Amino acid sequence: MSAPLDTLRDRARGCLLGGALGDALGGPVEFMSREAILRTFPGGVDLDPPGHVTDDTQMTLFSADGLIRGRLAGTPGDALGRSEQMWRAYRRWLLTQEVIEPAPGGDWLLSHVPLWAVRAPGNTCLSALRGDRPGLVEQPVNESKGCGGVMRAAPAGFLPDVGEAYRVGCDLSALTHGHPSGWISGGALALLTHLTAVRDVPLWDAVSEATAAAAAEPSGAEVARALTATTDAARHRPGEPDVLVTLGEGWVAEEALAIAVYAALSHPADVVAALRLAVEHGGDSDSTGAIAGNILGAASGVAALPRDWLARVELAELIATVADDLAAAGAGEFAGLAERYPPT
Ligand SMILES: [Mg+2]
Repeated sequence: MSAPLDTLRDRARGCLLGGALGDALGGPVEFMSREAILRTFPGGVDLDPPGHVTDDTQMTLFSADGLIRGRLAGTPGDALGRSEQMWRAYRRWLLTQEVIEPAPGGDWLLSHVPLWAVRAPGNTCLSALRGDRPGLVEQPVNESKGCGGVMRAAPAGFLPDVGEAYRVGCDLSALTHGHPSGWISGGALALLTHLTAVRDVPLWDAVSEATAAAAAEPSGAEVARALTATTDAARHRPGEPDVLVTLGEGWVAEEALAIAVYAALSHPADVVAALRLAVEHGGDSDSTGAIAGNILGAASGVAALPRDWLARVELAELIATVADDLAAAGAGEFAGLAERYPPT
């Protein structure tokens, strides 16, 4: 049974805003060593104004946009059809990174000028989206397993069917990341989000199911191994930065997912502690922070997020609106959505 719409909205807001908090927290320390981070922030990294989000949050909003338009258009069965609205959505995101500012009277999401800020977008995403064909699971467009596929996949968890959530999470990541670990990680994150937010499955059980889904893929051993290692680490030695670094640095998809899951499992009821753990390392802090925030927000809803950080993160109002729309579209409540997401 799926959760009622009010709960879905709360979980979608938690997921997208939690991701934005982790992203904004990690952005300023993305290219710093742990030692440098601790020297600069002896009391722990804080989310200071202006609370800028990066490409992780920007692309996540376009994931939601593509998913909503896909729901409004009906879901074609084949992979290319499933991916079409997502591809178009990410090409609109590409515009924000290549053009100075929006033309007046255009698309609703694109009309938000702060979204056009360029915040270290991933080269793989940029080059794949500049290409002339969408990457598919069956026809990869490159061999990349950078974390740019998984860091934007959480919104697919709000699709109504569990199998569809996983599959679309894989598909949307495969548009730009062709290595199986690149897109299976995206599917695993979407599945995690779906199970916790929509099905109310406890986080530990959801991680087990995501691990099993990865293991069931012919090329999923690497992602399954990363998730198994992270679960073992969180069970035996939770909340330890020295343990976290054994999971990797997060530049590649399965490591980013593993680090985020470790942080979430270590501090399931303390989002501030989880997000600090997720970003205070020498790796890809904004993406690991964003994914950890996605996971905990999806599981717990917006009330679990620190209010002072929510007040400082940019675009919070827009993110909440898109989250509400994503939850409504997932639940088949389409009234009013076509205004913001007309057919393309
Ligand atoms: Mg980023």
